[in-house]
Amino acid sequence: MELRCEGCAGCCVDWRPIDPDAAGDGDRTGRRPTLDDRYDLVPLTRDEVVAFLDRGLGDVLVPRLFEPAEGDDHVTVDGITLAAVRDRPTFVVGLRKPSKPVAPVGTGVSRWLDSCVFLDPTTLQCRIHGREEYPRTCSVYPAHNLELDAETECERVEAAGGGERLIEADVPAETPAPPFGSHALGATVFAYPVSADLDGVVDRLRQGFGTDDDRARFVGAAAGSRPGSLSVDRDRMAEARVRAREADSWAGRAIDAWTARAGTDGALVGLDDAERERLVHRLEDDAGAPGTPGWGR
Ligand code: SF4
Ligand code: SF4
Repeated sequence: MELRCEGCAGCCVDWRPIDPDAAGDGDRTGRRPTLDDRYDLVPLTRDEVVAFLDRGLGDVLVPRLFEPAEGDDHVTVDGITLAAVRDRPTFVVGLRKPSKPVAPVGTGVSRWLDSCVFLDPTTLQCRIHGREEYPRTCSVYPAHNLELDAETECERVEAAGGGERLIEADVPAETPAPPFGSHALGATVFAYPVSADLDGVVDRLRQGFGTDDDRARFVGAAAGSRPGSLSVDRDRMAEARVRAREADSWAGRAIDAWTARAGTDGALVGLDDAERERLVHRLEDDAGAPGTPGWGR
C-alpha cells in the first residue's frame, strides 16, 4: 500500500460540507445505521480504550450505538430501537470530532469541519501517529476497505479533485482482521449490561447532546468487557467510568475550546494562515498536545 497523505486528512475530517457527492456516507461500519452522524468514526479495541484511560485521555472517547439490521436482536430505550445482543444494546467506542479550522482534501482553504481530536489543524498530521495509543484502525487504513473491495476515503478524495492519493493498492500480508464480525464481541463491539440504565442517555446521544457522564458510562462498560464474551466486570466498569468522567486532558480542553469558537459546518474560517496557526498553537500545542513530525521525514 502506498499513499500520499500530505494535505489530505480525508479519513480524519468530515469533509461532506465541501463535496457531499464525493464524500461517503460517513460510516465505516457496515449495514447497521448509526444513531449519530459522525463521519468515519475510528472504532477502538477494548485495550485501546483502556490505554487512553491510562494516559488520562478518557475525555476524548465517544460511544456509537446502532439501529438493528434485519434479524438482529434489539431493545427499545427512549422509544428508540437499538441493535442488541440479547437485551444488551451494542456499541463501539471511538474518538471525538470537534469542529476545527482545517483545509483538507487538497483544497488549501480553511473551513470549520468536524475533525479528529488528534488531528493537528495546521499540519494536517496526526498528533499520536506512531505512538502507543495510535489506533490500529488508523495504522492499517485503508487495508480493510481494499480487502473488502469497498471504496476508500483516498479514492473519494481523488474523485473530488483532491489529488492522487492511493498510489499502490496492495494489502500488506500482516493486516489484522477487521474490527467487526463474530470475533469482535467484547473486543471492539461491546454490549451495555443494563439497558434500563440508559433512559434519557440514548435520546441525548442521538441528538448530539451527550454529556461527559453519558460518554463515561459507555467507556466504563467497554473497559470492563471481556473479549469474546458478553460479560462485563462491574468493578472494572465502575472504576473506568469514574476515570473517564474525571479526565481533564489537553485534548478534552481543546475540544471544549474549539466547540466554543466553531462556525457553522463548512463555513470559511476567516483567518489568514498565520492567525490560524497561532490559534492552533494556543489551544492545542501550548495546552500540551504532542507535535507532528512534518512531511519531510
Ligand atoms: S487518530 Fe490520527 S489518523 Fe486516526 S483519525 Fe485521528 S487524526 Fe486521523
Ligand atoms: S484519505 Fe487516504 S490519502 Fe487521505 S490522509 Fe487518509 S489515508 Fe491518507
